[in-house]
Amino acid sequence: MRVLIVDDSKAIFMMVSQMLEEKGHVGIWAEDGVKAVEYLQENSDVDVILLDWNMPNMNGPEFLEKNLTDSFTKTPIIMMTTENKPDYIKKALSLGAVEYIMKPFTNDILFNKFELVDEIA
Ligand SMILES: [Mg+2]
Repeated sequence: MRVLIVDDSKAIFMMVSQMLEEKGHVGIWAEDGVKAVEYLQENSDVDVILLDWNMPNMNGPEFLEKNLTDSFTKTPIIMMTTENKPDYIKKALSLGAVEYIMKPFTNDILFNKFELVDEIA
């Protein structure tokens, strides 16, 4: 599985990609929404997208809004954030994210989400 990790924190990318590698998967890094859009316009090799909420240039909700109008990807998107307020979750889901994950998370939580997404998709 190839996972696009969209997060301005390199530490988060390193942590998540290590979790993926332990199970034989691959993490690809995009440091903001703009980089993620560029990547997805040129590559269709991603199975799931992990999307941070707060990022410079283009944040998570802006990325989702842009995808609603431009449809640059149909890959399932899991929103990652430190906020667990119902309003945040509702907003992410209404903009097209299929799941929501609280940072920091464990390997088990991450792979449980992947299984859920697999069932939805
Ligand atoms: Mg961030």
